[in-house]
Amino acid sequence: MTDAGLSEEEVTFRDSVRAFVDKRIVPDATRWDMAERYPRELFLETAALGWLGIGFPEDVGGSGGGSVMYAILCAELSRGSAAIALGLYVHTALAASAILHLGSAEQKARYLPEALAGKRIGCWGYAEPGAGADIACVRTRARREGEYYVLDGSKLYITNSPFADFMVIVAQTDPARGLKGMSVFVVDRDTPGVRVSAPFKKLGMGASEMAEIVFDGARVPVGNRLGIEHLGFIEALKVLTLGRIASAGFGVGLGRAALEEALRYTSTRMQGEAPITRHQFVRFTLADMATRLDAAWQLTLHAARLVEAGGDYDCAASMAKLFATETCTHVCERALHLCGAQGYMRESAAQRFYRDCKVLEIGEGTSEIQRETIFRHLARQGSRWV
Ligand SMILES: Cc1cc2nc3c(=O)[nH]c(=O)nc-3n(C[C@H](O)[C@H](O)[C@H](O)COP(=O)(O)OP(=O)(O)OC[C@H]3O[C@@H](n4cnc5c(N)ncnc54)[C@H](O)[C@@H]3O)c2cc1C
Repeated sequence: MTDAGLSEEEVTFRDSVRAFVDKRIVPDATRWDMAERYPRELFLETAALGWLGIGFPEDVGGSGGGSVMYAILCAELSRGSAAIALGLYVHTALAASAILHLGSAEQKARYLPEALAGKRIGCWGYAEPGAGADIACVRTRARREGEYYVLDGSKLYITNSPFADFMVIVAQTDPARGLKGMSVFVVDRDTPGVRVSAPFKKLGMGASEMAEIVFDGARVPVGNRLGIEHLGFIEALKVLTLGRIASAGFGVGLGRAALEEALRYTSTRMQGEAPITRHQFVRFTLADMATRLDAAWQLTLHAARLVEAGGDYDCAASMAKLFATETCTHVCERALHLCGAQGYMRESAAQRFYRDCKVLEIGEGTSEIQRETIFRHLARQGSRWV
């Protein structure tokens, strides 16, 4: 183990991602943010490096690796641009991962090799105008008609949807059964009856693109249902919980970028003959930011290692997500404060970090949902795991 708590192999991987991010993402991150357009060539470039295939077996075009590697990838990409990390994450860890875990051999062969090669891009849609934090409120309906399902409804705030080639969608197949009446479908973009709105304007994550997907009598073949009818979403929830660890990684990476920016500004911003780090307030703020971020990373690593060890990671993943994303918001706010007016300018990295951070507390289960999960574990087993 190295002093970063990583094996030699993990350090080598981290350094290779770090070098790519410094060369390929950091220099353009602010420009992409302002243009509000995702640089789609990054799918092909990261696929060529094997990063889209992390966690996927080789027979579907994957490159192996596990949760720790994926957490490292998320943290390093997010250090360059959380918006870029978000687009890659939705494609791999949600859309492609749902096909891997729920799909038949034929469905995997049909979608995954091209997806993991970065040639066809996916999005994941469960949120709707009436369904967000409460996942039981999905109302998009899929009615069976012979060899097809007819989809009606809409999916809101769907990342990657403006350019996605395929959409992994949650829809009700038996409204009377609640969560146990929801199935998952992979829908090709060119299916008649599928319409994607113009991209939305957002506070942050500028380079990531999102829109609404409307289904108006869209006929989807039965062969595009992923997993068992009615139980697909319940199954998906079990396998897609790794997203919380990825979100924690995003929080750590984005927070580190903000810390680095604050450190750079405060150690070069002169007042008279001395940099403003001569003030104890500045030094202590930076020290607290670094300490919290390291704690967040250790929680993230712990949750990822539990996954790899086959342990019960549910509570650890929620703790990591909750702490890392709230820490990220705190750190980005402090970084902007320390960077003063220069940080407040539209060209500065500090203001981008400040706008990007908040959504990490909202997506992949809001902080309140994580606290509910942690409390459920607490009520069951007290504090015995500590
Ligand atoms: C940038 C961005 C990208 C996104 N990308 C995707 C995507 O690719 N796919 C997708 O499906 N969705 C996506 N979403 C939507 C995301 O899934 C939802 O925003 C999220 O699930 C929260 O739902 P909501 O926004 O409707 O909040 P609401 O459900 O309206 O909740 C509002 C507030 O009330 C609190 N609250 C709600 N219910 C409870 C409760 N039971 N207990 C305590 N507090 C509660 C919440 O914690 C929150 O603070 C994205 C959103 C954003 C902003």
